[in-house]
Amino acid sequence: VLTIALASLLVSDPRPLLVTIDDLPLVNAAEIGGDEQRARVTDEMLRVLAKHHIRAVGLVTGSRVHGPGDRALLEKWIAAGHELGNHSFGHLSYSSTDPDTYLADLERGRKLVEEILRPHKKTVRFFRFPFLREGDTREKLEKARAYLKKTGQRNLPVTIDDQDWSFEKPWLEAAKIGDAAKAEVAREYQVALRLEVERHERIGDKLLGRTAPQILLLHATAVGAAQWDELFAWLEKTGHRFQSANELLADPAFAIEHSYVGQLGYGLWDRIRVERRNEQAKEAIGKLLADQAAAWTRGDLEAFCSVYAEDARFLSPSGVTLGRQAIFDRYKKKFGSAKETMGELGLEIEELRLFFGDEVSILGDAVPSAIHGAAAALRWRLRWANKPEASGLSLITLVPVKDGWRIVQDASM
Ligand SMILES: [Zn+2]
Repeated sequence: VLTIALASLLVSDPRPLLVTIDDLPLVNAAEIGGDEQRARVTDEMLRVLAKHHIRAVGLVTGSRVHGPGDRALLEKWIAAGHELGNHSFGHLSYSSTDPDTYLADLERGRKLVEEILRPHKKTVRFFRFPFLREGDTREKLEKARAYLKKTGQRNLPVTIDDQDWSFEKPWLEAAKIGDAAKAEVAREYQVALRLEVERHERIGDKLLGRTAPQILLLHATAVGAAQWDELFAWLEKTGHRFQSANELLADPAFAIEHSYVGQLGYGLWDRIRVERRNEQAKEAIGKLLADQAAAWTRGDLEAFCSVYAEDARFLSPSGVTLGRQAIFDRYKKKFGSAKETMGELGLEIEELRLFFGDEVSILGDAVPSAIHGAAAALRWRLRWANKPEASGLSLITLVPVKDGWRIVQDASM
C-alpha cells in the first residue's frame, strides 16, 4: 500500500491553484433573498473555503453592494482571512465602452473597496476585468494598464475560465422544484467545472512545458455555496495544492509579457498562446517566401513553384493562370530555367495579416480560433547582371496545410 501511495505521489508535481471569486458580495443577491438568506449563503461559501484551507481573492462589484447588509457580507470575507479586490463598479464591457467612461467606473469601484479595507489597514491590490475583456484596441489596452499601474492595482488574470455563474439561475429555479431537480443541476455543475479545469490545464502545461500554476474563476453564488465542497475535494484528489495570491503569483509564468487585443475575454494561457502562435505563423510565412526567393535565384523553378497549391490561381496584367502546373509552365516559358535569365529575386513583406477570430467552446467560453488563412502584400525585385532591375507588387493569399503553408492566390503586377 505504501509503495502505491508513494508512486502516485511521484507521478506528477502538485499543481498550485489560486481560487478567486468574482462579483462579491453575490451575483444575484435579489434572487437569493433578503439579508438573512444572503448571510446564510455567504457563511456557507466561507465555511467550505475554510474546510479546504483556501485563502481566496474576492473581487467586489460596487453596484452589487446595495446597503449595510451587503457591506456586512464583505466584512465576513475579510474576517475569514480572504483578500478583497476591485471588479469595477458597474461591470461594464470594455469592448463597448470608451476608455474615459470605463476607467472612471473602475476608479469608482476601487474607491468603494478602499473605503471598506481602510479600517483593516489593507489596500486594494488586485483588479479583475469584467468579462475578462482587457481592451479591443491597443490604445484601450494600454490606457487600462497605465491606470492600474498608477493606482497600484494588479490585473489578476484567470487561467481557468468557466461558466460557473450560468448555473445560478437553474439552481435557484431547481430549489423551488425539489431535490431531484437540484441534483441534476449539481451533476451538470460538477461535470462542467471538471472539464474546464482539465481543458485549461492541458493548454497551460503545453504552453509552459511543465505543470502550470492555475487561477480558478468562481462566482459568489448559492450554487457555488452548495457545490464547492465537492469541487474542492475533487481538486485535492487530483493533485491540486491551494495557494494564496502571493504564493501563486510569484511563479515566473505570471510575469510573461503579453498584449492580446480582442473583443472577448480569454484566459491568460490562451492569450499568451495566441500571441506566440501568431508569431510562429508569421515566421513560417516569412521563411517560406525567403526559401521561395532563394529557389528562384538558384534557378530551381520546381522548388519555387512547389509552394503554390495544386489549384492556385495566378493573376497578372496579362491574365489568369489556373493551377500549379500552369503557373510553372508560364514561368518556364517567360524566363526559361537558366539562372542568368531568371535573375536574382528578392521578396519583401510589406504587410502580413493572419485570419482568425473568436469562437465559443462547447462549454460557453470565448476561445481563439485556429488561423484559417493569411494574406501578404509583397514587393518583389528582380536583378540581372546585364539589364536594369525590375520591381513590382504582389498580393498573395495563403492557407495552412499539414506541413506548412500554400499559396492559393497570387496577384502580381
Ligand atoms: Zn464579473
